[in-house]
Amino acid sequence: MTEQINSFPQVLTLAGTDSGGGAGIMADLKTMQARHVFGTAVVVAVTAQNTLGVQDSLMIPQEMIDAQCASLADDFNIKACKTGMLGDAKHVHYIAKNLQKYDFGPLVVDPVMVAKGGATLLTDDAIQTVIDELLPLATVVTPNLVEAKRIVGHEIKTADEVKAAAKEIQQLGVKNVIIKGGHMTASKQESADYFLFADQTDLWLSAPRINTNRTHGTGDTLSSCLAAELAKGIDMKQAVRTAKAYVQAAIENTIQVGHGHGPLNHWA
Ligand code: PLP
Repeated sequence: MTEQINSFPQVLTLAGTDSGGGAGIMADLKTMQARHVFGTAVVVAVTAQNTLGVQDSLMIPQEMIDAQCASLADDFNIKACKTGMLGDAKHVHYIAKNLQKYDFGPLVVDPVMVAKGGATLLTDDAIQTVIDELLPLATVVTPNLVEAKRIVGHEIKTADEVKAAAKEIQQLGVKNVIIKGGHMTASKQESADYFLFADQTDLWLSAPRINTNRTHGTGDTLSSCLAAELAKGIDMKQAVRTAKAYVQAAIENTIQVGHGHGPLNHWA
C-alpha cells in the first residue's frame, strides 16, 4: 500500500502557553486542528495557569525565540501567523524583528494585555512598542474594547466612537481592524463586534450575549481561527464571519473543565 499524503496549510502562533489548556498556544493549536490546518508554535512565555487564574509566568530568552523562528523558517511553509501574549516591550521587539526577517504570511495581531482573571499579559510600556513595531506589520488587529482604548489612548463609549477608534488604529498602519465587544445594545442582550476592512467598507456583527463564565481563551480562539482561514486563502471578509461563528459555537456548547473560568469547546 502506498502512503496517502494529505497536505494542510501550515499556520504559526507566536504566543504564551496556558498549562490549563484553555487559552494561549493551547487554544490556538486546538482551534487550528479543528479548522483543518497544521498548527506550529513559537513559545514566547510559559504560564502556570488553570481556570482559576495565572499563578506564575516565565519569559523565554531572545536566543530561544530566534531559534524557534529559524527552525520553522528552515523547514515549513507557513501561510499565516498570529501573535498572542508577548509579555513585555523587549519581547514585542524580538517578535517584530523575526516577523520582518521571515515571511510567515498574513499576520493577525491579538494585542492581549490583561487576562479575564486580572493577570497582566503585556506590561503598560509595551503597548507603545506594539503600536510602533508590530501594528505596521499586521494584516489585521483584534483588540477588545479595553485594548482598543489603550491603543488609541482615550475613552470609547458610543458606536460612533468605536468606528472612529477603528479608523485611528487603521491609520497606525494595520490593514484591517476588529474591535471586539465594541458596542452593547441598551438591553445588553447582544454584543457587537465592529470590523473595518482595508477597502474602507465596514461591518457590525452582533450575536446574542451568552450568560456564562466559560469564555477563557475566547480572544485567542478568534485570532487563531482567523489565521487558519487566511492560511487557506479565504478572503478577510469571509474569514472574520467564520471566526466569529466558530467562537460563538464554542461558547454556546459549553464543557465542564476546572473550577473557575472554563475553557471553550473546540468540538462544537
Ligand atoms: N493566558 C494566555 C497565555 C493568553 O494568551 C491569554 C489570552 O490571550 C489568556 C491567558 C487570557 O485568557 P482569558 O482572558 O480569555 O481568560
